[in-house]
Amino acid sequence: KPRVYRFGNKSADGDSKMKNLLGGKGANLAEMSTIGIPVPPGFTITTDVCTEYNILGKDATVDLIKEEVEKSILNIETQMGSVFGDKDNPLLISVRSGARVSMPGMMDTVLNLGLNDEVVIGLAKRTNNDQFAWDSYRRFIQMYGGVVLGMKPESKDDIDPFEEIMEHLKEKRGIHLDTEFSIQDLQDLVYDFKDAVKKRTGHDFPTNPWEQLWGAVMAVFDSWNGNRAIYYRNMHGYPADWGTAVNVQAMVYGNMGDNSGTGVCFTRDAGTGENVFNGEYLINAQGEDVVAGVRTPQQITKLGSQRWAELAKIDEVGRAENYPSLEELMPKIFNELNGYQNILEKHYRDMQDMEFTIQDGKLWILQTRNGKRTGAAMVKIAMDLLKEGMINEKEALLKIEPNKLDELLHPIFDPKALKRANVIAQGLPASPGAATGKIVFFAEEANKYKNSILVRIETSPEDLEGMNIAKGILTARGGMTSHAAVVARGMGKCCISGAGALKINYKTKTLTVDDHEYHDGDWISLNGSTGNIIEGKVATVEPELSGEFAEVMELADKYGVMKVRTNADTPKDAKVARNFGAQGIGLTRTEHMFFEVDRIKAMREMILADTVKGRKQALEELLPMQRADFEGIFEAMEGLSVTIRLLDPPLHEFVPHQLATQKELADDMHISLQAVKNKVSELEEFNPMLGHRGCRLGNTYPEITEMQTRAILEAALNLKERGVICKPEIMVPLVGTVKEFEMQEQIIRSTTNAVFEERKDSIEYLVGTMIEVPRAALMADLIAEKADFFSFGTNDLTQMTFGYSRDDAGKFLPIYIEKGILKVDPFEVIDQEGVGQLIEIATQRGRSVKPNLKIGICGEHGGEPSSVEYCYSVGMNYVSCSPFRVPIARLVSAQAAI
Ligand code: PEP
Ligand code: MG
Repeated sequence: KPRVYRFGNKSADGDSKMKNLLGGKGANLAEMSTIGIPVPPGFTITTDVCTEYNILGKDATVDLIKEEVEKSILNIETQMGSVFGDKDNPLLISVRSGARVSMPGMMDTVLNLGLNDEVVIGLAKRTNNDQFAWDSYRRFIQMYGGVVLGMKPESKDDIDPFEEIMEHLKEKRGIHLDTEFSIQDLQDLVYDFKDAVKKRTGHDFPTNPWEQLWGAVMAVFDSWNGNRAIYYRNMHGYPADWGTAVNVQAMVYGNMGDNSGTGVCFTRDAGTGENVFNGEYLINAQGEDVVAGVRTPQQITKLGSQRWAELAKIDEVGRAENYPSLEELMPKIFNELNGYQNILEKHYRDMQDMEFTIQDGKLWILQTRNGKRTGAAMVKIAMDLLKEGMINEKEALLKIEPNKLDELLHPIFDPKALKRANVIAQGLPASPGAATGKIVFFAEEANKYKNSILVRIETSPEDLEGMNIAKGILTARGGMTSHAAVVARGMGKCCISGAGALKINYKTKTLTVDDHEYHDGDWISLNGSTGNIIEGKVATVEPELSGEFAEVMELADKYGVMKVRTNADTPKDAKVARNFGAQGIGLTRTEHMFFEVDRIKAMREMILADTVKGRKQALEELLPMQRADFEGIFEAMEGLSVTIRLLDPPLHEFVPHQLATQKELADDMHISLQAVKNKVSELEEFNPMLGHRGCRLGNTYPEITEMQTRAILEAALNLKERGVICKPEIMVPLVGTVKEFEMQEQIIRSTTNAVFEERKDSIEYLVGTMIEVPRAALMADLIAEKADFFSFGTNDLTQMTFGYSRDDAGKFLPIYIEKGILKVDPFEVIDQEGVGQLIEIATQRGRSVKPNLKIGICGEHGGEPSSVEYCYSVGMNYVSCSPFRVPIARLVSAQAAI
């Protein structure tokens, strides 16, 4: 099997299906080359080699691939008509990482490789451009020094030795920009850079191009295990054993003068999804310059330029007219690019994010990939592609990333509050959304406040963690494709970039706009959809779930087989969930109703009562309250099944633990403080999660089950009288033995019969059980003989299968995940391997007795995409999740069935 795959000149060894082996970038380069897009020729060293490298180390890996790489370089030389390391006609190459999925800015790249003191002279002669040649050389040493020779600063506080040298020279020469260096300056920089390398590493900077190449290839492999990459991988759950491919490609130059340039473009708007070609470019620049956000880039299209000019005026930059679009400046190149973007979008049948370079009037496409986009854009693009006939309904559904839907479900600024808002400045609407929070200036401080807004001149990959924590991101520099913008869109985080009117001082931690100063901890709000930066806090409202979002949901329901219910404890939650499309309630935790102020008193009286009579008296007080709640919930869920669970948590959760409250309770109940204290300590348990809770309560205090059953059925009958259809399902928690269930069922049925008798009326209802104790899963056939339905309580089932206390796992789980003992938190993502066995056993044994047994899940996993998919695969009838996750679960239910 080859370890190296070539591409270029309208042919390639690989194709876009080989992402696992060639990485996303390599696979796409191969594919593009095959369909006739002008990509600079090159080759990809496979991800398998990365794995081999991790085992074998450098020398053995070089031996493995040397011959293939040498042949492939020869191939590039032939196509480009230049020679690697040649003094007169040099070929320069780039070396880049490329994992299966794009990890923007996470791994390393070396450009301009192949330069040395002799080659640089040849390059200058051939391009007739000394400035360009020496600038490329100094960039190369700088990048190589950083990436391969370990001279990159470890943290923000460290000084980049190369930057330091450049700053000194700028000071000495009285200049400000990199572009102002003279040829002599650049030559001095090269000399000083090499000197710095020697001092730092003890070795001369490598002059042999082959030595340079091998160093860079191995450094890219190493970067897969760098801190940034690991953080990114963990954040997205990508396994470490994927490895990265290495792409080696002929360099083309966007910095060869005013007939050259480089840019990034999108076939559709990544923020809104609108079908407009857009992007940014810089004349006379190299690739990294656009993304680094150092120079403000220009727009690709005339329309983009007009839109940008409107924003730029407001932010008082007032220089829009000096920034013509590519369409106006280089119409021929623009037309060619426009042609390719059409071809590529049609070919990949998705919005593309492309990088291009214009070298001396010739257009090269460096890269294309499915573009990152906001949740709103994702939904719009999927539905638009469907309407345009580019994809079918199933493909449209599969284009929706479940977790990203979340962005559309969260609040936006209240339009009324926005009218009064004091807009202090405007930037580019880089990633939509509404964010309100306190200003922080450093990514490491993002967790200082509950809600923070990260305010930076520009962001860099080191800021990733803080960007993830912050509610929103604001930068003074950079365009729509700057690091901040791209990363924020990927995270679905609100971001405003390039707000030029902001003066940010990291030392004093101040943000100045006009004459007004804002400090660390001051509130600001960002409207990522307009680019408005607003002083103070702004109220938010629920979003509207119409338009394309509703269309996607409708499609999902067309293909989804498994139903989606919700976990809701109040009529309000039930209504919200129904708006989100919940098809019933899978879990009402009745205890949550008892925690309200006026109810907790009655609840405490019940718990403190010494006699059954006293307990019943207190329960009488609770009955009408519960009944009213149930009526509200049934009404909100009219016509749909509602599962109500009997009291579950240990009683000690309800009694007061503070002296003052204990006194109050004693006075209220006319008993001694000591009596209250005694009861409280009596209820104390060493391990409440495994203690006196669940059906163990109902079986020791049957009057609780009686009262709750009565409240449920009376509520149902009341609604029936009013013509509202309700379908109650009573659920017994924490069952482990058949007998436990039988006892409860017997109480429920006899209470129900009594209620029916009293009311001279009846209603259909079910009595089922949770499966959340491992023993219940194993005894499922016996339990199914009695129970009308099963609902997996995977929170407890996970707790008891792993033996990890739900209350205490937070102490060690993060460390377990960090150390790789666990891949993910099993309380978040179902452990299919272990806990899954119990789920499968219970399902199969339950249905062996009752083939049509209704089975669902109501643990937190019911809204987590991979778990929902799993629930479908084991044949559940429904999942039940929190209201905000209902649309996500509906989508996954459809995706699983497709
Ligand atoms: C469960 O255990 O998964 C469950 C839904 O019940 P609770 O979280 O209330 O214990
Ligand atoms: Mg439970």
